[in-house]
Amino acid sequence: MHLNAKIGLEIHVQLNTKSKLFCTCSTNLAKPNSHVCEVCLGMPGSKPVLNKKAVDFSVMLALALNCKVPKISRFDRKTYFYPDLPKNYQITQYNFPIAQKGYLQILNKKIQIRRIQIEEDPGAITYPYHIDVSKYSLIDYNRSGFPLCEVVTEPDFSSSKEVKKFLKMFISMIKHLGIYSSNNSFRVDTNVSIGRNPRVEIKNIGSIKDVVSAIEYEIYRQKFVLESGKKITQQTRRFAGSTTEAMREKETEEEYGHIIDPDLPPIVLTALHINQIKKKLPELPYQRAKRMFNQYKINKHQALAIVSEKELADFYEKVVKHIEPKFAAGWISTQLLKVLNYNNIYFSEINLTSQQFISFLKLIQAKEISDRAADLLLRELVLKPQNPKKLAEKLNLLNLTEDELSKLINIVLKKNKDSVDQYKKGKTKVLAFLIGQVIRESKGRADAKIVKELIMKKSFLY
Ligand SMILES: [Zn+2]
Repeated sequence: MHLNAKIGLEIHVQLNTKSKLFCTCSTNLAKPNSHVCEVCLGMPGSKPVLNKKAVDFSVMLALALNCKVPKISRFDRKTYFYPDLPKNYQITQYNFPIAQKGYLQILNKKIQIRRIQIEEDPGAITYPYHIDVSKYSLIDYNRSGFPLCEVVTEPDFSSSKEVKKFLKMFISMIKHLGIYSSNNSFRVDTNVSIGRNPRVEIKNIGSIKDVVSAIEYEIYRQKFVLESGKKITQQTRRFAGSTTEAMREKETEEEYGHIIDPDLPPIVLTALHINQIKKKLPELPYQRAKRMFNQYKINKHQALAIVSEKELADFYEKVVKHIEPKFAAGWISTQLLKVLNYNNIYFSEINLTSQQFISFLKLIQAKEISDRAADLLLRELVLKPQNPKKLAEKLNLLNLTEDELSKLINIVLKKNKDSVDQYKKGKTKVLAFLIGQVIRESKGRADAKIVKELIMKKSFLY
């Protein structure tokens, strides 16, 4: 049974503003329930005042995602009862969102953006030990009123691989825009359906890796259900480590009874204001890749791989101040990314400095280390960043010195007198064998080119 998967995303990004969406409370980390006021605690009679920066940031994101930004958008109240929501409604956008109909390009495919809406975050609930066994829950209202942008895609993805590429590029984009930093919250809801079956939503996933695992598990689970002759029901599930668990049968958006928030006037954006924001947009990942391609003469795939994480692109541009750009791009886009992939970590999660990487590449350029040994060294460096030369010494990976090499060649030539005689009689093929012997004896710590030269000189002495 072959059924295509259809996957959509709802991404909640906390915007990098200093204060909350509707009050002046700080968004900095603090001890629980210390950054609160009557507005974000939903006290009767308190009035929300919209944070202008959050609107500008949302427009920046909308423009970067090729969306249409209408002149007028509005806030609605989404009603539901939950202890993290003291007003019993969340201020969000329903019928008139800040932006609609955009796209982000990945892997020769346009993923369509259905809408972008601005909304407030509820408070944070924690369950000591685990939600299933906890006798009580704790609520921190510091998060209540944090400004979020919710980006909703069409169900255009057909695999977890596409989702991973998209989310990486999306995060790189919001970091380039400067509207998001790694300390901010980032949560994803994903909906997955296969064939014409109902869709299942998985809520509140906190990292790209977990989104990928949740989708892979969910596709596997749904296929298994169908293969056992059962039906898939529309429901909401949560990600639980490596699997998904049912939470509730899916409610519809209508059940939340959205009404326009009478405390907040419509947002009116003039064409002039939108144009001003457009003009001030910083360089975005695709533009940066294009510039790198022209400026450093690296190839397109390398440039795209490098900008897929902002931290990696910044790192590369520091490295090329000291190292030939093509050489650096080669090592980053192949070996470095391979090691990261193998360990299932992102560049932003490691502490390798540009200085350490520059020293590493210089070891290779100076032929102090062979390519094979450099590969081994890099694997260690990624996991435990440190001085590359000292680490290479410790791991016995540095090439032999000329003296050491010369002694080694003498031994090999003495041992293989027959081959040396054949070489002297003009059998040049034997040379490759002798080089191989030396490299084997050196345990890969000799450069083949230098070995060749030395053997050619020395063979006549034997
Ligand atoms: Zn407040």
